[in-house]
Amino acid sequence: MLNIFDTHAHYDDEAFNEDREVLLGLLPKEGVSHVMTCGTNLVTSYRSLQLAKKYDYIYCALGFHPEEAHEERKGDLDTIVELLKTEEKAKAVGEIGLDYYWEENAPRDVQIDLFRRQIEIAKELDLPVIVHDREAHEDTFNILSEMRPKGVLHCYSGSKEQALQYTEMGFYIGLGGVVTFKNARKAVEVAEAIPLDKLLLETDCPYMAPVPHRGERNDSRLISLVAEKIGEIRGMDPQEILDITNSNAEEFFGI
Ligand SMILES: [Zn+2]
Repeated sequence: MLNIFDTHAHYDDEAFNEDREVLLGLLPKEGVSHVMTCGTNLVTSYRSLQLAKKYDYIYCALGFHPEEAHEERKGDLDTIVELLKTEEKAKAVGEIGLDYYWEENAPRDVQIDLFRRQIEIAKELDLPVIVHDREAHEDTFNILSEMRPKGVLHCYSGSKEQALQYTEMGFYIGLGGVVTFKNARKAVEVAEAIPLDKLLLETDCPYMAPVPHRGERNDSRLISLVAEKIGEIRGMDPQEILDITNSNAEEFFGI
């Protein structure tokens, strides 16, 4: 298959330390046309940017993940803003959001404050946001519907009803390996219901590998399995799903 646009990857992750160069050299030959690799703090944002500068087909998102909220130091966001303003391959603010799943994460009000500040930055720079929402559907929805950035709900895990509310407001929905999982009833409903022009495909690699590779290290090539599953759900050719989501992503990121 061709035209795979992986809208959410973490190629700076240590899971790729052994063979990163080989793998990233290989992907374009195996159908991957673009990758958006996402920072989670200042260090991983820098690393993501280095990858984007090294490989033509890789772009990057810079920002603070909610799990990293306690890592933010004064001035960090100014540095991120500077990079977003000056670096051509930096195309989004991400990944940002709310994560109420992990007990050890920063308190909710700290996460919310950081989330809002990063949305504000994206709006000022006219860039999209890549949103992580884990067990925080209500607060995420309220903040996004109030602030209305251009954004994608990455690895969307909410209800079909809320997905439709998001797409009506212009937000995009990011789907990946989860749609292929046996227990993925909600994700399948979402894949079936949302307008195709608001769908983006992603890996979240090294995590979330689709069936039959569940639990293994994921990479952008495996998006073909996600396209096959969504094609099956919607009665469409998987290549058509890849073509449509590719142009959606190009428009979304302004590439
Ligand atoms: Zn991620």
